[in-house]
Amino acid sequence: MPIRLHDSLTRASRELQPSHPDGVFRFYNCGPTVYAPAHIGNFRTFVVNDVVRRLLELEFGAAKVKHVRNLTDVDDKTIKRARDEGRPLADVTKQWTEKFHADCDALNCLRPHVEPTATGHIVEQVDMIEVLMQKGNAYRAADGSVYFKVNSFDGYGKLSRVKERELQANAAPSNKSQAADADEKEDVSDFALWKAHKPDDGANAWESPWGRGRPGWHIECSAMSKKHLGDTIDLHTGGVDLLFPHHENEIAQSECCNGTQFAKHWYHSEHLLVDGKKMSKSLGNLYTLEDLIAKGFSPMALRYALLAGHPRKQLNFTLDSLHAAESALKTLREFRATLLDSSTASHDAFGPVLHALHEDLNTPGALGALFTVVNRRSGEVDAASFDRAIFALGLDLKATATVTTETPAEITALAEKRWAAKKAKDFAAADTLRKEISAAGWTMLDRKDGYSLEPAKK
Ligand code: AMP
Ligand code: ZN
Repeated sequence: MPIRLHDSLTRASRELQPSHPDGVFRFYNCGPTVYAPAHIGNFRTFVVNDVVRRLLELEFGAAKVKHVRNLTDVDDKTIKRARDEGRPLADVTKQWTEKFHADCDALNCLRPHVEPTATGHIVEQVDMIEVLMQKGNAYRAADGSVYFKVNSFDGYGKLSRVKERELQANAAPSNKSQAADADEKEDVSDFALWKAHKPDDGANAWESPWGRGRPGWHIECSAMSKKHLGDTIDLHTGGVDLLFPHHENEIAQSECCNGTQFAKHWYHSEHLLVDGKKMSKSLGNLYTLEDLIAKGFSPMALRYALLAGHPRKQLNFTLDSLHAAESALKTLREFRATLLDSSTASHDAFGPVLHALHEDLNTPGALGALFTVVNRRSGEVDAASFDRAIFALGLDLKATATVTTETPAEITALAEKRWAAKKAKDFAAADTLRKEISAAGWTMLDRKDGYSLEPAKK
């Protein structure tokens, strides 16, 4: 059964196929910037990519899939964090890389085969920039920075369909890098390949033919995919915010340097919203996996909830969706316990689950198909068929249902306020506070001389 996936370049659903004679499917996925814990929006993207990886393995065989995902360990944000904390950059990025790995493991995401870092590939990035300089696609500015000359590449804009006018408007700094370097550029849409050393960068600089500095952000993915996967990759993915300028710039750098098509297929998943809004610290709706565990939810419930929406549509996350996910997982665990591993049923009852995933990664359709069979609970079901479907979705049914944890400080603060309100006989306020506590996933139990808090029962 072929895997069909929307391709952002052609805007059509296309079959995934290895293009190299060795039959190995080459999969590159833009990874995290390691300066803070990843939030659940980041994890939507990584969980969706993990389902792609699993489908590829089922389709082509585990040994015929090579998955590379980079770690951005030098950019404006990582350097700023290290500076603010007075720590070496490598210490900070090591801390957050380890946290990222722990979270990915808890979410049952398969580790990529190669996880290259930007700082570990300075030579490869410099080599690539040198080729771009030789070919006339790049120039050195007076301060020692090197820029990619956008109008030297006719194909610029083919992924994002960005028009000349929009190009200029959008050339403003993106979420990573591209800081205040506008003055040095020949054209506003040109972007940095190499950034000359600035005092704020501290010790985070490397020697290059253009002077001391550090790579621009985009070049790391071009250089690392070339090194670990070759000039042409079969699938390149990331969140929708990376489509422009990051992926457009990757295409420009790679295709000008290598003289061949960079990626055969592009896939972008949509963003996660929380309570209908973009996640942000100031709105207080930015959750990490740890925040949800502190509210008593299991990482598997988050994985389930992240898969409950179509990856090409925005997904609105609510804490309620985690309650529903916990109960769905409970049903699946109980169902699995009724299946005999030795079952000889030949009918692939859960085939429709894979079918839905093979049609443009329809994860809600797959969960629907899963429960259609589970709820029927009739006839003999092949355990292997169920396990295959569960593997594709990456739901670890053996993982602990709920991770016990300490009560978060903000819940204790609410509880204290409510207890004080109750003692003052302000029952309306006490009631409102109880609702707030339970909306956050906790139950406050009143005792004769105090109270206790426990994660809400699912
Ligand atoms: P970053 O660490 O900022 O490079 O982001 C890592 C990945 O998470 C990228 O593929 C982003 O596109 C993706 N991402 C960032 N914010 C969200 C969000 N709210 N929902 C889904 N994916 C996101
Ligand atoms: Zn990238």
